[in-house]
Amino acid sequence: MISFYPGPSRVHDEIPRYVQDAHELGVMSINHRSDAFMAISERTVSLLKQRLNIPSDYTIFYTSSATECWEIIAQSLITDKSYHLYNGAFGQKWHEYTQRLHSGATAVPFGVEEKLDPAKLTFAEEGVICITQNETSNGTQVPSALIKRIKKNHPKHLIAVDAVSSMAGIALDFKAADIWFASVQKCFGLPAGLGVMICSPQAIERSNHIAEKEHYNSLTFMTSMMTRWQTPCTPNVLGIYLLMRVLEDSDNIKDTQEKIVARYEDWVTFLSERKTIAPLVSNRAVHSHTVVPVTGDADTLQHIKALAKKHDILLGEGYGEWKATTFRIANFPALKKKEIKKLMAILKKF
Ligand SMILES: *Cc1c(COP(=O)(O)O)cnc(C)c1O
Repeated sequence: MISFYPGPSRVHDEIPRYVQDAHELGVMSINHRSDAFMAISERTVSLLKQRLNIPSDYTIFYTSSATECWEIIAQSLITDKSYHLYNGAFGQKWHEYTQRLHSGATAVPFGVEEKLDPAKLTFAEEGVICITQNETSNGTQVPSALIKRIKKNHPKHLIAVDAVSSMAGIALDFKAADIWFASVQKCFGLPAGLGVMICSPQAIERSNHIAEKEHYNSLTFMTSMMTRWQTPCTPNVLGIYLLMRVLEDSDNIKDTQEKIVARYEDWVTFLSERKTIAPLVSNRAVHSHTVVPVTGDADTLQHIKALAKKHDILLGEGYGEWKATTFRIANFPALKKKEIKKLMAILKKF
């Protein structure tokens, strides 16, 4: 089955071989305080920085998921106020989760077709500005350049960015914000169960100043453990090892982005030539490059999904309010050209 689901999605072909290697090398049983683990952890951090062009003074943490990152930010970096800019289900969920811990979590919703205007976004009270860079539920994105403008206009605020379904697919300007996070079952092409959180020196400084120490995953505790390439609890050692192996094989993100954007353009051209289906979002200026949602009438979509399934292709279901009238196509790096061609051949029949 080829999974075009926007996460969990198709994993890289080499994964079974790397799992076998991990078994043979004893990686699955190593102690998470051992030199062997610390070497894998350090190398993975170094490769993440190299491949994704992350500034050397940023700190990288391992988490279990992106949801855990939402929680860490709420626990350790938000004291009262946070502002949540979103136009879809994931950004909304992030706001809801944070609001359970802080009544000061403020929703700043915007339209699916709307391009944010940074001049109109002003946040008077100090707090964390939370942005969902790539909204997986509706296939829209907030470009790095826009995030950078928001940061420039609010130098004292921390900016936190959910880049779960874009990191490792497109090039992100990490200097434009303070906290970035993703989980690996999307663009990284890995099995689920591992997240990465990337923090600027300003974010680390803020967390040390707030000095929240109530949780096993308090950021202060995680920061002190990471000075020895370790985590407070036993991490997903196999996941970290697989991430290291995949990164060793990866191109620099600039090259991956080129491939992803070219494929995205192919999808837009292809969809513009169809009669019964079309892109869900018409404003191309806000299109995601890594998640392509398609709309059509419910009957057509049902036939498409059934035929795709018959050909061993899994499409992403529509999400939330778009459930019945959309399906989503992952445009993640692990998917192959011939697999995309196969899916296009099916869609051409409609
Ligand atoms: C998938 C996804 C999440 C949740 O990731 P988990 O690893 O399940 O916690 C959060 N935000 C976005 C934008 C996502 O696509």
